[in-house]
Amino acid sequence: MVWNFFSRKKPIGFDQNIKAARYVGGGETFPVQDTRAAIEELSQVVKNDPEAVEIYLALGSLYRSQGEIERAIQIRNSLIVRPGLDRRFKARAWFELGRDFRRGGFLDRADRAFQEARSLGQNPTAIHHEIASLAAERGSFEKAAESFGQLNLPLPQAHYLVRLAMDCFEEGNDSQAHRALRHAIRAYPGAVEAWLEQIIQAYKIGNEDRVASILREALTKVAPQLSFVLLEGLIQALNKAENAKQHSFGDETEWSRVCSDTTLTAAILPVIESQEPDVLLHYYGSLLLLRINDIENAKIWLEKTLLLQSDFWLARLELFELSREDQTLTPFFNEQLSFFIGRAHKVHRFFCGQCGLKRDQLFLNCPRCRSWHSITFRTDFSQ
Ligand SMILES: [Zn+2]
Repeated sequence: MVWNFFSRKKPIGFDQNIKAARYVGGGETFPVQDTRAAIEELSQVVKNDPEAVEIYLALGSLYRSQGEIERAIQIRNSLIVRPGLDRRFKARAWFELGRDFRRGGFLDRADRAFQEARSLGQNPTAIHHEIASLAAERGSFEKAAESFGQLNLPLPQAHYLVRLAMDCFEEGNDSQAHRALRHAIRAYPGAVEAWLEQIIQAYKIGNEDRVASILREALTKVAPQLSFVLLEGLIQALNKAENAKQHSFGDETEWSRVCSDTTLTAAILPVIESQEPDVLLHYYGSLLLLRINDIENAKIWLEKTLLLQSDFWLARLELFELSREDQTLTPFFNEQLSFFIGRAHKVHRFFCGQCGLKRDQLFLNCPRCRSWHSITFRTDFSQ
């Protein structure tokens, strides 16, 4: 029997398939033109098979998540332009294209893509959600808050009302700003950012009693694991005020009328003492005492902190530094110690309870996984 090689239909070889797969997943090692060709090739294969289209769209989303926006966009476009593609797939492709544009920072184009997806019947709630996030990214906080409110998501609604309030304060429109803060707390009583902003405003006008009374109320409303945000934010405001004082050369600034550190500390410590013992609240109490150079009481507060949690590394570090002055150390030993203490102070104090991202600045929406209020204090060094 003689094989008729020439009349047999040539199947697609493994080699060719592997080549295409490698191009798609190959990242930086393959030329862009080859990747484009592979995307086009895959686009021809998926036809109107729902599973294949899903996989194809998922591939685009994978590119997006890796920051390869151009490739993600190409995948959506190759579906959108295909004649005869089922309407619901076209709607999905427009929707994902909008998300690609959003991620790439092309906000106007994202808006238009979402409108197209809407006109083709894409799920209106998902589009509404995207448009709310888009408004937030554009700095249209009022619109973002309104949209999240309509979506029945009071936490982001409150968050963007606070951002709106901060804009209003900056423009000198204090009454509208305070209205937005009250609205935020009504919408979501646990909105730690709204309470913090109220505390900062009271601090700015030099009213320490008001700072203390807002703090007292906030501690009853904010989730206990987030209460440290109030004091961390307040201490950051104290630092800003001090900085402004050093650089203003006597000129009036927004920080010119703040409370003195001494009166503020005297007003706040009783509020902390009236709470259920909390390791972080005590720690921040000790930081306030250190600011006013009340070293003896700061030591007592740090020791209280360690009684509540013996492995709280930051309290140990502060106590260690305070007792260092009493020790006689050789210059060599002192230098090594300074190095390690300096390093320890640079360790990020906060992490996201959802994705583990570590930061030294407060965040209320995780910059990586976008979780809300997932910030956690690293009380344990191994966290
Ligand atoms: Zn996260």
